[in-house]
Amino acid sequence: MMPFDYRRAPDPEAAVAAATGSAEVAFLAGGTNLVDHLKLGVAAPGVLVDITRLPLDTVDALPDGGLRIGATVRNADLAAHPAVRRDYPVLARALLSGASGQIRNLATTGGNLLQRTRCVYFRDPSTPCNKREPGTGCSAIGGYTRHHAILGASAHCVATHPSDMAVAMAALDAQVAVLGAAGRRVVPLVGLHRSPGDEPHRDTVLAPGDLITSVDLPPPPPGARSVYRKVRDRASFAFALVSVAAVLRVEGGVVRDVRIALGGVAHRPWRARRAEDVLVGARADDEVFRRAVDAELAGAAPLGGNRFKVPLTRELVVSALRGLSREER
Ligand SMILES: Cc1cc2nc3c(=O)[nH]c(=O)nc-3n(C[C@H](O)[C@H](O)[C@H](O)COP(=O)(O)OP(=O)(O)OC[C@H]3O[C@@H](n4cnc5c(N)ncnc54)[C@H](O)[C@@H]3O)c2cc1C
Ligand code: SF4
Repeated sequence: MMPFDYRRAPDPEAAVAAATGSAEVAFLAGGTNLVDHLKLGVAAPGVLVDITRLPLDTVDALPDGGLRIGATVRNADLAAHPAVRRDYPVLARALLSGASGQIRNLATTGGNLLQRTRCVYFRDPSTPCNKREPGTGCSAIGGYTRHHAILGASAHCVATHPSDMAVAMAALDAQVAVLGAAGRRVVPLVGLHRSPGDEPHRDTVLAPGDLITSVDLPPPPPGARSVYRKVRDRASFAFALVSVAAVLRVEGGVVRDVRIALGGVAHRPWRARRAEDVLVGARADDEVFRRAVDAELAGAAPLGGNRFKVPLTRELVVSALRGLSREER
């Protein structure tokens, strides 16, 4: 591990001032991803700014019925929060499907959103990787691709985004509050993460020194039900091969409101807008669910080792929607 300086920020503004403009500075939250990268030699920031004691560790009700989640709220606390369990079961289930109890006790909301890909080549500095070292090439293309993307990838990177929590938040239309050198701004969660394009080293739209301070969830859609389903290689302690977060409201057998986000298939939590467009106003039955997911998967470009993700995604989405629509009756 390279030597680094350690500082503890007294308030969010000081944290941003300490980090602004320098790719050599990183915020330290739970450390469950960043410290791994320091040890592996994947990241080597000269300064760590500890943000764990900033006053960003509460979950608060908003006047409109939504919820504000502080950036340093631990994943375990968020999953257990009564308002999350009652109003946003898709989020509670996504959180509980991630990592292990010990890691969830340390992992934070901001850190979970900004954790980096689990692509094995990214985590191995002895291999070429455009995300770790721009311009060196992508070892995954033509290599081991079981965990890689089928949607929205590029010739420069086919990595997937690993967070379960982010997929649920994408389906909930969450808004991310960011403090940067120019002040505060709000970024929709679906616009936070980037497609790889020709700059796969940039995971998000954030600039160096931008601090996530909180995430707002809008009020739960009235009458809607939600679910998070995740398929993985082991029953626990494993990242998603494919996951789906779905929020559905059916009335009189017709889909009135639906939001679907997919995990494990793209460089970002993948909001399935094409599927949603097919579903709204249509009959809530298997034929329509299948047509909707096929519209989304029409753009899929599987690689050698991940072709199974196309039928897996289809069946996972159809069964999630079927389950939610049955509960509606
Ligand atoms: C064995 C193992 C299994 C796992 N399985 C899963 C899984 O199945 N599903 C899943 O979703 N995750 C899984 N994880 C990942 C885990 O959830 C993440 O490591 C964790 O959520 C990261 O949060 P953290 O607070 O520890 O972030 P850190 O490691 O502290 O930070 C991660 C990154 O975010 C930046 N950062 C942190 N907070 C902020 C902020 N507020 N503003 C700006 N930048 C910030 C840091 O500078 C760093 O770059 C697993 C991890 C391990 C080790
Ligand atoms: S898929 Fe992306 S992260 Fe993985 S080796 Fe290729 S460039 Fe690197």
